[in-house]
Amino acid sequence: MATLDIDGLHKSYGGLEVVHDVSMAFDHGEFIILVGPSGCGKSTMLRMIAGLEDITAGTISIGGQVVNDLSPKERNIAMVFQNYALYPQMTVAQNMGFSLELNKMSKAEIAVKVEETAETLGLTPLLDRKPSQLSGGQRQRVAMGRAIVRDPDVFLFDEPLSNLDANLRVKMRAEIKALHQRLGSTIVYVTHDQIEAMTMADRIVVLRAGKVEQIGSPLELYDNPVNLFVAGFLGSPA
Ligand code: ADP
Ligand code: MG
Repeated sequence: MATLDIDGLHKSYGGLEVVHDVSMAFDHGEFIILVGPSGCGKSTMLRMIAGLEDITAGTISIGGQVVNDLSPKERNIAMVFQNYALYPQMTVAQNMGFSLELNKMSKAEIAVKVEETAETLGLTPLLDRKPSQLSGGQRQRVAMGRAIVRDPDVFLFDEPLSNLDANLRVKMRAEIKALHQRLGSTIVYVTHDQIEAMTMADRIVVLRAGKVEQIGSPLELYDNPVNLFVAGFLGSPA
């Protein structure tokens, strides 16, 4: 749990600038949603926050500490992707405990941590199953469990629900919101789904071509969009 400050962030690939001078400051425990069209730099932003991508210019601070030079592991951030990338040969329990094993936690401590997390996510009856024996929603829950066991300061979600069918998506939105309330963690969540943004976010960041168009609560953006792009993006889905 921590504040997240992004200041003058730039990213170029070769000569092409894909993130241009992005600054934003978030409180501890905020649920932040990044929205914008495909290719506007959302995933690149998350990867820079996670430390998976070099920063061309600018600073990222977590809990007041500049993390630019810290490795992904040192940042205590967890990332959940849209294709959950579970280890197919491992059970649910092993999938959830794996990162703790890498961190040299004892087997007994890992078991306790995994059981606690499974309880939170309703995964207790599934701990001995393999990913192939799970539904899409259950797999997504395991992916979240894998992130939660590490007690991260910041959670990053990159379109976590986009592979799920519409009914399940609605259910998982509610689950993620409930989880956020229980954990109180800072979350940066990427989606291109306007309804997800409007219903889940404390604050929404609207990006276009690597630049911030507007930051505000769902209501602020809905009532007072700064331009037609923001109005169109957060209007009713086409
Ligand atoms: P989004 O997640 O919003 O769809 P991305 O962050 O994936 O957008 O990509 C932003 C821009 O950066 C796109 O134009 C994309 O083609 C480009 N890009 C992303 N990753 C790379 C890379 N590794 N090398 C070169 N260009 C990249
Ligand atoms: Mg993306």
